[in-house]
Amino acid sequence: MNTKILENEFEYSKPGSLEEVLETLATKQNVRIFAGGTDLIVKLKLGALPDMEHMLDINGVEELGKIETRADGLEIFAGAKLWSIESDRRVEENYPALREAIQAMASISVRNMATLGGNFCNASPVADAVGPVMCYGGKVRMQSKRGAREVNAVDFFLAPGVSVLEKGELLTSVYLPAPKAHTGHAFVKMGRVKSDIAKISITAVLEREGDRIASCRLAMGSVAARPLFLKAIGEGLAGKAMTEALAQETAQNISDFIKPIGDNRTTAEYRTDVAKVIARDALVSAWKNSGGTL
Ligand SMILES: Cc1cc2nc3c(=O)[nH]c(=O)nc-3n(C[C@H](O)[C@H](O)[C@H](O)COP(=O)(O)OP(=O)(O)OC[C@H]3O[C@@H](n4cnc5c(N)ncnc54)[C@H](O)[C@@H]3O)c2cc1C
Repeated sequence: MNTKILENEFEYSKPGSLEEVLETLATKQNVRIFAGGTDLIVKLKLGALPDMEHMLDINGVEELGKIETRADGLEIFAGAKLWSIESDRRVEENYPALREAIQAMASISVRNMATLGGNFCNASPVADAVGPVMCYGGKVRMQSKRGAREVNAVDFFLAPGVSVLEKGELLTSVYLPAPKAHTGHAFVKMGRVKSDIAKISITAVLEREGDRIASCRLAMGSVAARPLFLKAIGEGLAGKAMTEALAQETAQNISDFIKPIGDNRTTAEYRTDVAKVIARDALVSAWKNSGGTL
């Protein structure tokens, strides 16, 4: 295979308005959005998208490149590049787990092109930036000629490569609600080398009330067929006093709960064992980042 060649023939367009993007999605057949292309072009080169007839580049739509403050949070639009998200002061201050996850992804040159929307729409179980968005209670906003809708980030993924995104729909933005006071955050990723695709990752975001956990949200990458939100385990921590023993017990519960598979990056056993270590570390770090002591 010559990976310098894109074997399919397809049309290409780069509209200047959201209206034109939605019109193209509604009228053309077998359209694929090009946001940063860092997943899309790889798939094209591998011949994985033989049906694609139209590549729709959204980088001509100025409003899609923005990151905007809302009264109750932050809205990151679909064309905003990962580097602009990781270098945004509002993200650094309020959503540090998202910043750390992005900084653990690929190289600067890839992050100069890639988008958060692309990380979601590619719907890989490994996607690094997804866990933090889930743990911050993020929402995914979508639009088509039929109208706009929003789903919780935790409900966006259905199967490997499959999301709730319907034909003709564009992911327009990812919305992050403002975190409460005394929120602590942690993102931990294990890869073969720095910035590699994760063997396993975990995000923890918790709210502290004195020496107790008021609420906790946990998500993992690379341990299931889609990014995994650990709803019951996180909710089970609410109201509990934080201790080293609680962190270890929760980490053991997580390791017992997940059912990872082995693949070309690592084994199921590695993932099950390491889950225990990184879950404990993430919980302790998030607690300390919230101002708590142990
Ligand atoms: C060398 C390299 C290293 C990488 N390392 C990592 C890593 O460490 N961690 C990680 O998580 N990922 C990694 N990736 C994967 C990739 O960079 C990310 O998933 C990135 O966020 C994809 O964003 P993009 O804008 O390039 O998506 P694109 O390639 O443009 O799109 C991806 C898919 O989503 C669809 N799509 C994109 N935007 C929209 C939208 N707004 N609405 C509807 N559909 C849309 C596209 O049609 C396509 O099917 C790596 C990739 C490369 C090439």
